[in-house]
Amino acid sequence: MKIVLIGPPGSGKGSQSSLIEKAYNLPHISTGNMFRSIMKEKSFLGRKVRGYMDNHQLVPDEVAIEVVEKHLSKPKFKNGFILDGYPRTLKQAQELDKLFNIDVAILLDIKTDEIIRRIQARMICSNCGEIYNTNFFKGKFCLLCGNSLVQRKDDKVDIVLKRVNDYKSQTLPVVDYYSKQNRLKVINENCSIEKTFNYVKNFLEKVK
Ligand code: AMP
Repeated sequence: MKIVLIGPPGSGKGSQSSLIEKAYNLPHISTGNMFRSIMKEKSFLGRKVRGYMDNHQLVPDEVAIEVVEKHLSKPKFKNGFILDGYPRTLKQAQELDKLFNIDVAILLDIKTDEIIRRIQARMICSNCGEIYNTNFFKGKFCLLCGNSLVQRKDDKVDIVLKRVNDYKSQTLPVVDYYSKQNRLKVINENCSIEKTFNYVKNFLEKVK
């Protein structure tokens, strides 16, 4: 199965991707994690990506498409994958379709006030990117790799609002694109990770 997860920041794409990865044994690609790791590299690409990420902008299509397509050409993605945070522009979606037949695009649609509430409780592992909610997890270190948990620099309220606006202008056309092709499934209920995953599983059972 080839799955795309779409949603505004804080909608739970990362959490759902991890659950799908485990339940369906599919490799998960978070382009946010991928670019956070690339920007640490002391290379031309690393510096270029850092420039956009430091300004909380999307990496330009030509860079994002090249990096993601190169990554997806690895044999482990041949039989399927979950894309979390990609495609985020119409151009990315159109280019992806030239290479892969995406089975389903799942939209996690939540309202802006809920996004702010969730993001204020979000911490991520500084090493592996695992996500924690401070309402439920009081530890300071990642349960998977033991590294420290940090707040993402772009999880501040003013920056989140900018990211939500970018999502509306740049990513909603992607939602429309999949919807017109009858490949879109929407979860627009603000519910727990577990309940959201039940909806996701229902969609995926019909695709398999
Ligand atoms: P995320 O963790 O998904 O919110 O992504 C963090 C940052 O990575 C974004 O603000 C962008 O700078 C970059 N990024 C992630 N995915 C994409 C994408 N599909 N296209 C362009 N930039 C991206």
